[in-house]
Amino acid sequence: MVILKFGGSSVGSVDRINRVIQILDQYYIKKKRNFSVVFSAFQGVTDNLIEIGNSAFDRKNNYKEEFNRLYQKHIDTAKGLNPNKNVALIEKLNYLFTELEEILHGVYLVKELTARTLDYILSFGERCSNTIISETLLNRNIACDYLDASTLIKTNNEFGNARVDFLTTNKNIKGYFKKKKNPQIITGFIGSTINNEITTLGRGGSDYTASIFGAALNVSAIEIWTDVDGILTADPRKVKNAFPLKSVSYEEAMELSHFGAKVIYPPTMLPALQKKIKIIIKNTFNPTFSGTEISNSSLNDQFTIKGISSIDDISIIRVQGGGMIGVTGIASRLFGVLAKNRINIILISQASSEHSICLAVLPAFGAKAKKVIEEEFRLEMIDKKIGSVIVDENLSIIAVVGENMRHTFGIAGKVFQALGKNKININAIAQGSSELNISLVISKHDLTKALNVIHKNLLQTKRR
Ligand code: ADP
Ligand code: ASP
Ligand code: MG
Repeated sequence: MVILKFGGSSVGSVDRINRVIQILDQYYIKKKRNFSVVFSAFQGVTDNLIEIGNSAFDRKNNYKEEFNRLYQKHIDTAKGLNPNKNVALIEKLNYLFTELEEILHGVYLVKELTARTLDYILSFGERCSNTIISETLLNRNIACDYLDASTLIKTNNEFGNARVDFLTTNKNIKGYFKKKKNPQIITGFIGSTINNEITTLGRGGSDYTASIFGAALNVSAIEIWTDVDGILTADPRKVKNAFPLKSVSYEEAMELSHFGAKVIYPPTMLPALQKKIKIIIKNTFNPTFSGTEISNSSLNDQFTIKGISSIDDISIIRVQGGGMIGVTGIASRLFGVLAKNRINIILISQASSEHSICLAVLPAFGAKAKKVIEEEFRLEMIDKKIGSVIVDENLSIIAVVGENMRHTFGIAGKVFQALGKNKININAIAQGSSELNISLVISKHDLTKALNVIHKNLLQTKRR
């Protein structure tokens, strides 16, 4: 069996959904291959739902117009796909949208939008898209069942970014599939708590859903169908010459996606890696192209590095002072206080003089990080052992990734040389001990130029 996943970009319109059905027919149904499919919400719908929820919360009356537009979009898609047979489907959609309207009205009345309610609101995106697609397949005499994955994927109650309870989830999935013969049309992105409250798995989480099902069912492959030819050497919107990679290792895919390559959601690699199931990234708009295979081995190609990715907006927190030199426990208190306040650290760098520690966080956490660190080190600051905490903004991180960097000298040198020659200043550098990734902090203003010069120097000129 194969688990397929089509993202929002593949299901943005009637034409696109017809194209997906054609792919299913040609490559799976006609070939009698056993498959099930995870679908995301239609393109842009999750963002729409967040906006509508916030508008209702802010008591903006136009939330009703936005809601109606979303409703109409789904009805038009349902009718466009099923011009002659849509009564039952429209009824199902009306039922879902009535429920959504009631929840939004509640948010409007009580002026409260908790993370739990927002997850519930967001679940309508995937529930609606999968309802439309499964009914359309049935209307075209393709056997299938609609599967609300929140009934099987059990999570904790970290709404918005819930952690999966794999023991229960795997048991649920295996038990459910034993009883089913038809291909399942599976809602991506959603799970539920032990009390059956809907949760979401993080933005981009439908990829993860595919991997959770794939690993539980021990499938032969997990195919992620999207709108590009695979994992490219860089974000194609920023680097025109980016090209698709034939194969990358799970670790490389994790590093590239963790540092911004949106093509696959980072946690997706973990369940697949544990079961050694390959993940193949394919292009819905170019299905004959082989795409990228993610597996244990990373085929050696002509370049030393695999790719470059970036987190476009970060802030750097700098803690410095003579009182930090040779004193044990400073780093542990620093990381401890950030963890306690749920501030995620993206990158850490410390000069060997121990005079300063530098941390990258998302800009939204910059001011809070400064405040909690200054509280933690209040006494050291009074004694002037530590200076005031500095927050530098408008910065980006670039990550240069590749397994081969481990065995090759001079890669960092080449990267710095390329940037230096182009007068791009580096604010901080970090390299993981795995040597799989070199991360650089630069000014946001230089980001596109920096990505392009590194790409040109390390991915367009062959290794000697
Ligand atoms: P889907 O809707 O299928 O989940 P996403 O929009 O989440 O698709 O991810 C695909 C997009 O990721 C591509 O359109 C591309 O613009 C972007 N992207 C960013 N970095 C990369 C990369 N290194 N390789 C491929 N795509 C990338
Ligand atoms: N619809 C969800 C999102 O936009 C999940 C996904 O697309 O993978 O984040
Ligand atoms: Mg995605």
